[in-house]
Amino acid sequence: MAVHPERFEHRVSRTDASGAAASPVSSHAPPLLDPHDARHDALPTGRSAGLMLKHVACCVCGAEDCVPAGIGEDFEYRTSPDTFIAMRCRECGLVYLDPRPAATELPRIYPPNYHAFDFSPERFGLVYRVRRSLEARRALQWCRGLGDTARILDVGCGDGFHLRLLRDFGRPGWKLEGIDASDRAVDAARRAGLVVHHGTIEQLALPAATYDLILLIATIEHVDDPAGVLRAVRRLLKPGGRVVIVTDNTATLDFAVFGARHWGGYHFPRHFNLFNRRTLERLAANTELDVDSIETVMSPVNWVYSVRNALVDWGAPAWLVERFSLRSPVALAFFTLVDSAHQIAGAGALLRAVLRRPATAAAANDSAAVASAATGRPSPEPGMSAAAASRRSPPERSAPRRRIFARVRTPLTHTLPPDRWLSRARPLPP
Ligand SMILES: [Zn+2]
Repeated sequence: MAVHPERFEHRVSRTDASGAAASPVSSHAPPLLDPHDARHDALPTGRSAGLMLKHVACCVCGAEDCVPAGIGEDFEYRTSPDTFIAMRCRECGLVYLDPRPAATELPRIYPPNYHAFDFSPERFGLVYRVRRSLEARRALQWCRGLGDTARILDVGCGDGFHLRLLRDFGRPGWKLEGIDASDRAVDAARRAGLVVHHGTIEQLALPAATYDLILLIATIEHVDDPAGVLRAVRRLLKPGGRVVIVTDNTATLDFAVFGARHWGGYHFPRHFNLFNRRTLERLAANTELDVDSIETVMSPVNWVYSVRNALVDWGAPAWLVERFSLRSPVALAFFTLVDSAHQIAGAGALLRAVLRRPATAAAANDSAAVASAATGRPSPEPGMSAAAASRRSPPERSAPRRRIFARVRTPLTHTLPPDRWLSRARPLPP
């Protein structure tokens, strides 16, 4: 059974009954798939049966008052014949996949050729090299102000791409660790010599109050329980430690244009929760994390994959579809310009949030003294939290930035605006 039609009809009728504007999906929604449809015979062996799906409520406010925002399929990997519905919570605005694959289906929806398991120079060529240099610069920005022996944890580290950047470009004394639930990802990261814990952050018994920085890069949208993950993050952070979250932004033009079906950020059925600035702030408040900053970041990737998904859905010829992928420098460059314009207006395709575990007054003063020693800047006033001090007095960064730029500069980065290009890889078709 692909999707529960009675549930979908129930939700649509509830929307209509409320008097709300008709969902944009209503006129575009395809007929619900029949798993016995002959078209599915073309699916790879083992992928012709529907996934086990489960119902969920909004993870930010707990409400079940939602309306369809988009309906689509696994355009990228075709791991199942299912039709999926992205719901928008009418109480808080979160966009979330409901119903969504049960936990037992994760090995199926993340197939062996999933990009995060093997983002290698052999597979991605020029894109890998450009992304590596730009992401190195971003990663070092996330680490600004950390001491020489800081402990850093990358949650959902995949094949260890960001950890390798920090090992190659960061300080030699940093202690780097990753977490991933996938066997294949953990194997790949360990082959690269990284320390990686196999499992989920909620299940692993890692020591509390240990880490100075935790990274959730293109991770939080994949997890079933973002609040549970952030509570686990909070437990593992030292008082005053921070978490950097990078995720898709639903308050964007690409979502407005493609959100009814083809939006790349849906990544059906692997992105379970999709945020805007407001819902991310609310999630932080729910999990007792202070917000240092939430900004948008330019990325062409959701634009490129939105066009690609539409072409795939409309049966476009392969040569045209292949013009829109991570191997398409022309498409990436064009949508870099498009999204740069939106980034200037504060509506870039991705969100980057810096959240902080509140420091106790004593801990804040201790960590401020450490930070002061590391940066040479004066300590904040007694009693002022590290977050407040950081807001009042942003880090001076000209000298470290010059060093960072010198270390990761490549000819291409001279022509691209810093911190404004690919933030992560997206999958190629199987
Ligand atoms: Zn909600």
